[in-house]
Amino acid sequence: METAVRFDAVSRIFGDVRAVDSVTLDVHEGEFFAMLGPSGSGKTTCLRLIAGFERPTSGDVNIFGQNSTNIPPYRRPVNTVFQDYALFPHLNVQDNVAYGLKISGVGKAERHRAADEILEMVALGGHSKRKPSELSGGQRQRVALARALVNKPRVLLLDEPLGALDLKLREQMQSELKALQRQLGVTFVFVTHDQGEALSMADRVAVFNDGKIQQLDAPQVLYYKPQTAFVADFVGSSNVLPPDMVARLTGRSVQASLRPEAISLSDTGLEGVVAEHSFLGANTRLKVDVSRTQISVLLPKGAQIPNDGDHVNLSWDAADLHVMAGDNE
Ligand code: ATP
Repeated sequence: METAVRFDAVSRIFGDVRAVDSVTLDVHEGEFFAMLGPSGSGKTTCLRLIAGFERPTSGDVNIFGQNSTNIPPYRRPVNTVFQDYALFPHLNVQDNVAYGLKISGVGKAERHRAADEILEMVALGGHSKRKPSELSGGQRQRVALARALVNKPRVLLLDEPLGALDLKLREQMQSELKALQRQLGVTFVFVTHDQGEALSMADRVAVFNDGKIQQLDAPQVLYYKPQTAFVADFVGSSNVLPPDMVARLTGRSVQASLRPEAISLSDTGLEGVVAEHSFLGANTRLKVDVSRTQISVLLPKGAQIPNDGDHVNLSWDAADLHVMAGDNE
């Protein structure tokens, strides 16, 4: 498998902000790669470094094996879909999509044919003569996608492309985007702060915090084997048990993560007091105080729900307690 994008100790510093701090990563060709992290963690800057809108302060960005330092954005085999879509309001859908080809000198008949082919693919076949203002948010998002794909980039960069959509449409577009990526085989690099979105779509996810990658792994590995307290908390709100508690349970003084759904109430086990409970539909979430730590427990439908203030015992399979090697926060 060829490497589509490689960062080798890349940093981008703005004044005294280390927006990207010595990041090393590989994106494989044909992969759906997500960059996940809170606001300000450096994801967008990484995307702009790939696109060529930013240059590294130090380190190298390689695209398909070529050092990209002196390659301007328009010569890179990449294209970007922006969150605000950036469509031309005065052009119809077909001309918006065909615009890039027009600039590269492709004739009218040919560029309209290419635009129509991509518009079919994103289920907008019948809308080519409409203006962007005559489309719904989801349809505008698809036009932006078609416009980026029509140039046949080898890497498509997507910066929070579903951020402006409501929840239901977001979920629908998540499956559509993933299906489209599989169909086209184009490498997707997707930036999001939504962990559900990253886990459900990506082959691998790089979790960013403070300009650094905390962990880069497949979704299941991030979820079940977080390497740091930050990843445990950010990817699916896992409990992080402090070293003194883990020492009492296992004899080893280390931090460990424990998923809320792996815990059940039983007659023996870790003792605690229910601080609050909330009904979530399919589950009920309990917050249980165990000495100085609050542990979140997700009880399935049908489980007996204790009252706030009740004393309970928590238990789990030993295999669900995951020791974290990555940090000592
Ligand atoms: P968001 O999800 O909010 O877009 P992000 O993870 O994409 O966040 P970046 O946009 O990469 O984060 O920003 C990382 C840090 O770099 C932030 O502290 C930001 O303020 C800073 N930064 C980004 N671009 C610039 C710039 N052109 N000048 C100065 N600081 C910048």
